[in-house]
Amino acid sequence: MNIVQPSVPPLSPELIAKFRTIVGDKYAVTDQSDIASYVTEERNLFHGHTQLVLRPGSTAEVSEICKLATAHKIALVPQGGNTGLVGGQTPHHGEVVISLKRLDRIREVDPASNTMTCEAGVVLQIAQQRAAEVDRLFPLSLGAEGSCTIGGNLSTNAGGTTALAYGVAREMALGLEVVLADGRILSLLSKLKKDNTGYDLKNLFIGAEGTLGIITAATLRLFPKPRAIETAYVGLKSPAQALKLLSLSQSEAAGTLTSFELLSEIAVDFSIRHGIDVRDPLSEKHPWYVLMELSSPRDDARTTLEAILAEALEDEIIDDAVIAANLSQRLGFWKLRDEMSAAQKPEGGSIKHDISVPVAAVPAFIAEADAAVVKLIPGARPVPFGHLGDGNIHYNVSQPVGARSADFLARWHDVNAVVFDIVLKMGGSISAEHGIGVLKRDELPDVKDKVAIELMRAVKAMLDPLGIMNPGKVL
Ligand SMILES: Cc1cc2nc3c(=O)[nH]c(=O)nc-3n(C[C@H](O)[C@H](O)[C@H](O)COP(=O)(O)OP(=O)(O)OC[C@H]3O[C@@H](n4cnc5c(N)ncnc54)[C@H](O)[C@@H]3O)c2cc1C
Repeated sequence: MNIVQPSVPPLSPELIAKFRTIVGDKYAVTDQSDIASYVTEERNLFHGHTQLVLRPGSTAEVSEICKLATAHKIALVPQGGNTGLVGGQTPHHGEVVISLKRLDRIREVDPASNTMTCEAGVVLQIAQQRAAEVDRLFPLSLGAEGSCTIGGNLSTNAGGTTALAYGVAREMALGLEVVLADGRILSLLSKLKKDNTGYDLKNLFIGAEGTLGIITAATLRLFPKPRAIETAYVGLKSPAQALKLLSLSQSEAAGTLTSFELLSEIAVDFSIRHGIDVRDPLSEKHPWYVLMELSSPRDDARTTLEAILAEALEDEIIDDAVIAANLSQRLGFWKLRDEMSAAQKPEGGSIKHDISVPVAAVPAFIAEADAAVVKLIPGARPVPFGHLGDGNIHYNVSQPVGARSADFLARWHDVNAVVFDIVLKMGGSISAEHGIGVLKRDELPDVKDKVAIELMRAVKAMLDPLGIMNPGKVL
């Protein structure tokens, strides 16, 4: 997807040299073959271009970059793991990319306070491992956790598969360090849960997708490490049945129900067909599946899970279920789920939606959206899956078999329009967890409260008066 915007003027060799002096020769990337991985993304949906990628190694260097950029009105695009799904991290019109990946130190782990202070470039999986080393849990978990970064997670306010129990990234951040567009460093690296000393400024930067400043570090909340994790893969007839299972599980397992993922048959089929080493855990096919997980500080998770599934079978809420017998089986269940996004690619064009509606409305949403999409494009294949426990469905639509991918993708906005109409009618959101970026920027003013948009623009103008921070994203 190419974003039509005027390109920024070329950087002079003198200015490139000044940026180079800040980060050092090795970390100012100008060779186009080295730049390639920063200007495209895995799904090949967005393509940008730039003359310069800077890889600062400290907050002070980020600050110097921003001061120089302000002095010369140079547009910047912050980038972490480059796994974002809405084109927010791509330099669509030639901006300088600031890769935060070298800010990869874990500054402090404080198990007694249940906090960990990480720099922005720490990879999510490394943060999880470091917490585990001190017998704690950093619960944020998503398919891209091997490459996405804490800075990117906070900038997109990532959700993932454990939001049901632990909340989204915003709820895991106690403190933040941010470099503002003019180079000032905002130091809010607090470990405090309680701190009512005025406006909660850190929350402005969380979910701002790099449009208000560059996050350089964060103090994160840690949680007790569960003693027992039990995972079940369940076959059932419909999203309505899945909703009943969710309700039953929440009553029986309360806060220990940490994941509840709804998977359509077609999403499972794609994953098995195209994923490497992905197997069907059940012997027979079902129209819908649930992948659910209980994480308990005691050893009672298995008994609780077995009781829930037995009751659900008895009440004919579910048709079949298997509980992972060991860690490798559990990882196999999750692999089937994690491969779902990638597995749509070999099936041709896929039009994506990351929506949320009130949890109770999910079955009606899927039914209405399926009917509307197939009416609009006969043969189109809806591939819904996602975090039913959060009312968040990745409502992706694969092209009809045999259609031309380009023709199908040309209908992107038409498909969005019918799906978003249903979402809005149900009181939902057009972006549950991936953000706005450029992908949904043009829709935002139509779906968000007018006063909220005015305030967002005012905040942007105040913090970034020259408009150099990730221009053209979100607003
Ligand atoms: C296979 C797969 C599964 C995924 N699953 C989920 C999921 O379940 N839930 C979910 O929420 N997302 C998911 N995502 C989306 C993505 O992984 C998240 O948005 C992630 O948080 C992005 O982190 P990143 O470091 O890659 O950021 P990037 O992609 O590099 O950047 C994302 C945005 O944040 C900004 N940014 C990055 N770092 C900084 C910084 N330090 N300061 C300021 N701005 C910054 C960028 O400018 C951009 O706007 C998935 C992606 C993939 C590929």
